[in-house]
Parts: sequence; structure tokens; C-alpha cells
Amino acid sequence: MMDEHSLTYMQDLLARQQAAHLKDPMPSRATRLDRLDRLLKMSEQASDSIVDAIAADFGHRSRHETLLAELSMTQAAIINAKRHVGKWMKAKRINTPLAYQPSRNLLISQPLGVVGVIAPWNYPYQLSIGPAICAIAAGNRVIIKPSELTPTFSVLLFNLINQHFSSDEIAVVTGGVQVAEDFSSLPFDHLVFTGSTAVGRKVAEAAARNLTPVTLELGGKSPAIIDKSADLHTIIPRLAFAKLINAGQTCIAPDYLMVPTGQAQHVADQLRKASQTLYPDAQNNPDYTNIINARHYQRLQGLLDDAQQQGASIQALVEASNPSAPNGKIMPTVVLGVRPDMRIMQDEIFGPILPIMEYESLDQAIAYINARERPLALYWFGEDKTQQQRVLSETISGGVTINDCIWHFGQENQPFGGVGASGQGAYHGEWGFRAFSKQKPVFIQSRLSGIRLLYPPYGKMFARMLVLLKMIA
Ligand code: NAD
Repeated sequence: MMDEHSLTYMQDLLARQQAAHLKDPMPSRATRLDRLDRLLKMSEQASDSIVDAIAADFGHRSRHETLLAELSMTQAAIINAKRHVGKWMKAKRINTPLAYQPSRNLLISQPLGVVGVIAPWNYPYQLSIGPAICAIAAGNRVIIKPSELTPTFSVLLFNLINQHFSSDEIAVVTGGVQVAEDFSSLPFDHLVFTGSTAVGRKVAEAAARNLTPVTLELGGKSPAIIDKSADLHTIIPRLAFAKLINAGQTCIAPDYLMVPTGQAQHVADQLRKASQTLYPDAQNNPDYTNIINARHYQRLQGLLDDAQQQGASIQALVEASNPSAPNGKIMPTVVLGVRPDMRIMQDEIFGPILPIMEYESLDQAIAYINARERPLALYWFGEDKTQQQRVLSETISGGVTINDCIWHFGQENQPFGGVGASGQGAYHGEWGFRAFSKQKPVFIQSRLSGIRLLYPPYGKMFARMLVLLKMIA
């Protein structure tokens, strides 16, 4: 028997999926619905085991967060795909310029073949299954490589997928960094990677060797800007929720906050009130999630230590009830008096820590953002529509939520993806369906075509035809 973590095993699996694809290169709507149905059934039947597995990997993960962000959102995406896949699959008639009529244009969405999915640990179910939903709706076969940082979940996913799918429909490969590297070297027909920008770069390089197209869903520092016109009473609980869900281990969590000059302490105090309402006794609160492992815990502690040594003010929003026994949790914290050269303002935080910096003018805030890598998300809070429009036009980011954070992710009808260092390509709903299809243009020539008027020997008719082609294109 072949070692399930070896390159040869993965090559063989890919070859089997490719062969199965060639046998049924354009799966019917019924076949796609059947696969989506099985995915939905799996999601619903296994929800308790998924909650438990992720909790085991995190040490503690709020059950409700898993139900919301992993299961409910994924199930909604499956239901949406089931509802629309018939329409998405249909060949579309495309307008034919007068000069070419009565010929016709069709645009066909054709399955690419086998889509590889590399997933991170922070929302392990959603980010494994989310891309798979779009890929399956588009008629592809899928191989998923979940993160080595969620080993309990990864084994569960392997078993669940084996139970509900044949390995030439959807398969899971588990393992560490070597397996991930080997996986990204396979000649997939498309590769979706969700993870850090640094690893994304390596994956893009590996995929380029096969000219495998990639969708890169990466990370980075997503800014949130509070405008003078914002209604703090409404927006602060929203900001606190978005920062603290999954203890800040969310790619689109607001990474740092920009507030008008003189407002930092006031906003921090409001955030304290909101956080204490959301997570009273955060340390022993089942709704508050652990940091994934000791390495990330120390990384976050290191960011705080560095900021403190350089003169920033570290303020816990909820005090630990037993600071000497941190039990895998970092308390919700804000950091005031930050400077751009501090590590906390350079690295993606990915934890429940929010630096707050003050800005004097919108020009200055926009210039700060534009001098850095393009963020995955950007948030703006306020009522002044002129300022809002300026932020939308003068910054570029993967997505934006206005007067809240993170919810643009949940919009299945909108593309989700980064730009520049935060990623390339996008998926969700029909956008994912198209990303994982070949959009194949087909020109159907008519018996009555006048194209022969362009044939040699070239003469006056040719010259007239050139003019005509330009005029009625
Ligand atoms: P990571 O980049 O460390 O790992 C992601 C995946 O890549 C894992 O499955 C891992 O096994 C694999 N991997 C590791 N080394 C590899 C290599 N050399 N070649 C190929 N694959 C390799 O990221 P992470 O720590 O799991 O996740 C956190 C990061 O992901 C954050 O930066 C976060 O912002 C980002 N993220 C982005 C999104 C998004 O939708 N854009 C969503 C969640 C997380």
C-alpha cells in the first residue's frame, strides 16, 4: 500500500481524478446537485464532530463560532450553489457584431478538471469546503490539503470525505509542510491557496512551473478607520465583535484602528465596555476562543512586549481573572501610542490585539494605507458620504465593509478575494463557479457568411470590407 503522504500517492490520486474527469468532462446538473447534496448532508450530519474536532485543535474554540463561521456559512453557500448551478452552467448567447451576422457567439462554462485546495488552520472547515463548493458546482473534481495545525480536524475531514465521496470525486490529503510543498508542485488544473502571503508566494512559484492558474487568498494588515462623523455608540460593539470572534484569528479581522486625533483613549474606553459586555470573564468564558498553539501565543506576546518596550501603552479590555494561568487565551487588548516601526504595526497581528493610532486628516490616513501593502479588507465608519467616497476611491483593498467589519465576506453574490499582497483571484457563489471554469468562447459560423469577401486575390471589395468591419464591429 502506498504511503498516503508521499508525492507518488498524490500523483496517483491526481491521475485517477484526471482520468475520471475525462470520462465525464461535463457533469450534468443532476450529478453536480448530487455532489452538493452529499456535501450538505455531510455538513449537517457531522456538525457536532466538526465542532468537537476544531475545539480539540484550538484547545478551546467557541462552539457557537464554529456553528456560525464554519457550518452555517458553508451550508448557506452549498444551498446557494444548488439553487443557481443550473443557471450558471447554461451556455450564454453573446451578442454578435453586425459584420459577422448571421453567425452566432456562445460562451460555455467548461469544467477545468481537478482543482487543488490548500487550507489554513483558522477556519479549517469553511476554508477547505468553501472553495470545494464552487469547484464542484463548476463540474470539477477536488483534492483538499488541510492545515497540519489542525490535525484532529484534518483526520476527521479525511474520514468524512471518504465516507461521502469516491476518491476520484473529492479527496483529502493530510500532512505537514513537506506534503503541502509536494501538493503545490502537482499539475492541477487550478490551485486555490488560502494562507499567509509568505507561503502564498511559494505556492505561486510552484504552480507557475506547471502554468497552473492560482487563486491566492492571503492575509495582511486590514485597517479600520473611524471618521469624526461616526456614531460610536452603534459602531463600537460591531468593531469589538469583528476583532474578537475566533480571538482575532480571522484573515479579515480589523488589524489596526485609525481614529481622529485626540480620540484614541475615548475609543479604547468604549471598546472596553463593549468587550466586557460581549465576553465577561473572557478567560473562563466558553464564547471566547483560544490562541491556536503555544508558538502563536508567544508570537502575540512578543508583539505586545516589543510595543511596550518601545513606549506603547498596553491596555487589557477585559482583565484575566487568573493571569498566572493563561489557559491558552490572550485577553482582548488595545495598544495606544503605536509607531509605524513597531512590529505590531508591521506584522499581521492575527490575534485579539488592536493597535489604535490617531490621524490628523483623511489625507494622512489614506497616505498611510497607500504607502503599505494592499490590504485584504478595509473598514470605514462614519456618516459623511463625501469622506466615505474618498476612502472608496483613493484606497484599494480586497473588499470593504462600511459601518461594520467582516460582513462583506458573507455576501455569496459578491466576489471575495484580495489584491496585490493580499491575494489574487476571487471566489464565492457564481464568482467561484466562473473562476474554476474555462470560460470558452465559441463562434458558430453561418452558411451565409460574407467572410469569403476577405479572401485573396485582394482588390476593391477587400478595401470596402475593411471599412465595413470597422464601422459595424
Ligand atoms: P500558512 O501560510 O502558514 O499555511 C496555510 C497552508 O499552507 C497550510 O495548509 C500549510 O500546510 C500550507 N503550507 C505551508 N508551507 C507550505 C509550502 N511551502 N508550500 C505549500 N503549502 C504550504 O497560513 P496559516 O497560518 O495556516 O493561516 C494564517 C494566514 O492565512 C494569515 O495570514 C491569514 O490572514 C491568512 N488567511 C487568509 C484568508 C483569506 O480568505 N484571504 C482566510 C484565512 C486565513
